[in-house]
Order: sequence, then C-alpha cells, then structure tokens
Amino acid sequence: MRIAMTRVLFVGGTDSSGGAGLSRDVATAARLGAEAAIAVTAITAQNDRSVAAVWPQPADRVKAQILAAGPVGAVKTGMLADAAIVTALTDALPPAPLVVDPVLAASSGRALLTSDGLAALVAHILPRATLVTPNLPELALLARALGVGDDADDATRAHALLELGCEAVLVKGGHATGPRCTDRLYRTGAHEREYTGPRLATGLRGTGCRLASAIAVGLARGQDIDGAIRTARLLLAEDFARAAKECATHGPAICDG
Ligand code: PLP
Repeated sequence: MRIAMTRVLFVGGTDSSGGAGLSRDVATAARLGAEAAIAVTAITAQNDRSVAAVWPQPADRVKAQILAAGPVGAVKTGMLADAAIVTALTDALPPAPLVVDPVLAASSGRALLTSDGLAALVAHILPRATLVTPNLPELALLARALGVGDDADDATRAHALLELGCEAVLVKGGHATGPRCTDRLYRTGAHEREYTGPRLATGLRGTGCRLASAIAVGLARGQDIDGAIRTARLLLAEDFARAAKECATHGPAICDG
C-alpha cells in the first residue's frame, strides 16, 4: 500500500541539461518531501547556452499521462509547447489548485510555446489558474495577446490577466535591474503585495520552475497563496545563496548564465 503523501502533478518539458523543466520540478518536490506525478509535454535537447532541439509530444500522449496520474493536491504547468497540448491539458486537468508558469521561451532565446499555443493558454488555461507566475517579458507577451498596449505598466498588465478569471498573478522581477529583486502579487480586490530580496548574479537556471513548483507543493498542503509564495521564496533563497557561494569559489566563468 502506498503511504499518503502530498502529490503534485507537473506538466512540462524535459531539459536534457537538468537546469530547468521537469527534472527541476521533481527535484523541488523531493526537497519538500512531496511526491511528483509527471506528464511530459516535450523532450528537449539543450544546455545552458542554447536549445538544440524540441520534440513536442503528441497531445493524446500528454492527455493519457495526466489522466493516469490519479488524484493530486495541486497541478503545476511549465513548458506546454503547442496549442494541441494546451487543449489536451484543458480537457484533462484534474480538480486541484493550478499554478501556471507561462514558459514562453528559454533564457537562451528559443520559443518553447507556439503563438497558437499562447492564444490557447490565454483562452483556456489562465482562466482556471489559481496563480500565474510570469516574469516581466512573459507578462508583456501575455498582456499583448489580450490587447493591452505596449506602453501599459506591469499592474495594468497583471490586472488584464486577473480579468480572465485567474485568482492571482505573481509578477517576478528577476528581469528588472537594481540591487533588489522584487516580485509582486496581484489579486482582484486586494492590495498588491511585494516580496523583495537582494539581487544575486549567479547564472542559476530554472529559478521560475523551482519557485512555481514549490508554490504548488505549498498549495497542495493547504497553504494560502501568500504563505506558499513565502515558503517557496525561502527555498529559492537557499539555492541562490549556494550558487553565489560557488560563484565566489570558482570565479565568474560559471556565473554569467
Ligand atoms: N526548458 C524547459 C523544458 C523549461 O521548462 C524551461 C523553463 O521552465 C526552460 C527550458 C527555460 O529555462 P531557463 O529560463 O532557465 O533557460
């Protein structure tokens, strides 16, 4: 008999280098003592510098994996690759809190979701999300897909996502500049909440995957959105501190991402 553990379903792509994607999600769940069910949307061949190849999986395979995963306490989505996969996810999504990390491109530049996929994500998945976790470039692209002008500020963009029906939007400030890195949580009818910490240049990859996965584990355990974000940020701070220490020991060559 299986022991009842917190189980989270991770829907996303593999990263052959282990820096991001499902291997990061599973590692994060394991660190937090949670069990990871997975649905592979795409296989990628990549390293820290470039994505050499992407093989999206047929949508029926993705759907079958989600349906076979069984009951889960939360779902976290990452790379969804294309519109057929987004539609499969829409059909098969289990009834549980949903954290959507809107993975649109790798840091090295390659698109990880087609433009049709982006439209399907906005139309079908974001309205069902408990929390969406865009970084600043992702927020701009999602807002643009909703017809928000390019001169709009981040709050206007985040509120455009909230109007789709998602419960909350966490805008990650990692792509901004300045000595501090600030994430902002937007919810309908509530004041904006800020989470801030020192900005560390570490070249650490997969930070968005780690944060969203840890938040999903928190939600599966019954934490509220704010509590889950705080716990997840502590975990990420540990990773940044470790990476910064390695940078200091081994020099900038491994820290420039
Ligand atoms: N590859 C996969 C499969 C991912 O899921 C992600 C992000 O979630 C990335 C690449 C991008 O990671 P990074 O921004 O660290 O390059």
